Amino acid sequence: LTSGLESAWNKLKGEEVLTKENIVEPMRDIRRALLEADVSLPVVRRFVQAVSEQAVGVGVIRGVKPDQQLVKIVSDELVKLMGGEVSELTFAKSPPTVILLAGLQGVGKTTVSAKLALYLKKQGKSCMLIAGDVYRPAAIDQLVILGKQVDVPVYTAGTDVKPAEIARQGLQEAKKKNVDVVIMDTAGRLQIDKTMMDELKDVKRTLNPTEVLLVVDAMTGQEAAALVTTFNLEIGITGAILTKLDGDSRGGAALSVKEVSGKPIKLVGRGERMEDLEPFYPDRMAGRILGMGDVLSFVEKAQEVMKQEDAEDLQQKIMSAKFDFNDFLKQTRAVAQMGSMSRVLGMIPGMGKVTPAQIREAEKSLQIMEAMIEVMTPEEREKPELLAESPARRKRIAKESGKTEQQVSQLVAQLFQMRVRMKNLMGVMQGGSVPALSN
Ligand code: GDP
Ligand code: MG
Repeated sequence: LTSGLESAWNKLKGEEVLTKENIVEPMRDIRRALLEADVSLPVVRRFVQAVSEQAVGVGVIRGVKPDQQLVKIVSDELVKLMGGEVSELTFAKSPPTVILLAGLQGVGKTTVSAKLALYLKKQGKSCMLIAGDVYRPAAIDQLVILGKQVDVPVYTAGTDVKPAEIARQGLQEAKKKNVDVVIMDTAGRLQIDKTMMDELKDVKRTLNPTEVLLVVDAMTGQEAAALVTTFNLEIGITGAILTKLDGDSRGGAALSVKEVSGKPIKLVGRGERMEDLEPFYPDRMAGRILGMGDVLSFVEKAQEVMKQEDAEDLQQKIMSAKFDFNDFLKQTRAVAQMGSMSRVLGMIPGMGKVTPAQIREAEKSLQIMEAMIEVMTPEEREKPELLAESPARRKRIAKESGKTEQQVSQLVAQLFQMRVRMKNLMGVMQGGSVPALSN
């Protein structure tokens, strides 16, 4: 995947900006690279479309070359594709939390069972394992041995008892022992078949699990998409665990899971040791896939600098009391935007208590302010003092904007108040008073 993408970036060397035309070739390379990495076709299509749309609309960042910019866009999109954030395990409100593991044979279910127990133990949770693979006596022994290694009790009932019955007994035992988390290992087949699915359904019905995690071998490639879809439709999963990421898998499985099932990858196994289980970080995975961590952090820094320069610019204006109507407009608009966002999301931290009425009010007063600022001359916008000194100017603005003189005076006063307030905010206490408007 990495080498295929390499040629995509190379095609942009020497270009000044990303355009509709010059991204055609690189996008073709990206598409091919993803397909070669075993990402399923519909996922690739949507991905390429999303990246192309963003690439054409992106603004130039000083010092960042178009190929670097495209790397960043692809990376961001990859992260999004994989679910964006880390998805934590869910725990039951009242213990025990029940985790059911499912998956094909040899993918690493039994290993993951014990790894997961150790992982949770490190978080201070007591665990119990249930040996549910009744088809191979060796499978039960394997889990017992691994259980000893991580020092977690294993419930076994031999190979003559049906998995759903083992599940019932195991759960009872877990409740008796007051453990926090029960993890049930199950039998897999080489291929999806009805008996396995029926058994899993029975077990699921018995356990009523908090998490049903599909264990997927990272080497599965293309088929991962179909596998995840089928398991999700048949038994309903809450997430996936991707194993054997330490091997030379091509990453396709990681990219398809979330997109085809809507269920996140929650954990990854990257080795045979019991310690080798970790949360799934979409951003790290994207970095691994692209193999261009240095470019990414460079672009991020450049973006940061841009933002900072903007902020510094504003800060300097405030310090030198140059904060004018143009800045005022920028500021209030930013605040208003946050307002309408909070209406949509209803949950921006710290803005939770904004009521719809308050937002409507703010939007209305912003409209009034905008109308007045619009009819100011550029000079008046940059030098609010002109308005403070001249009633004639305020009168003209009132007339042209269809507002009252009082509203104009209020706006001018507000700007000076804002200067003072911001100065104070920045810890610059000297100077800055609200001038009385001359009549
Ligand atoms: P199950 O049939 O799904 O229960 O699979 P097992 O847990 O028995 O694992 C099958 C094989 O894969 C074993 O040899 C494990 O040691 C190996 N395995 C499991 N997880 C990983 C992993 O993350 N990395 C590597 N390299 N090997 C693993
Ligand atoms: Mg097993």
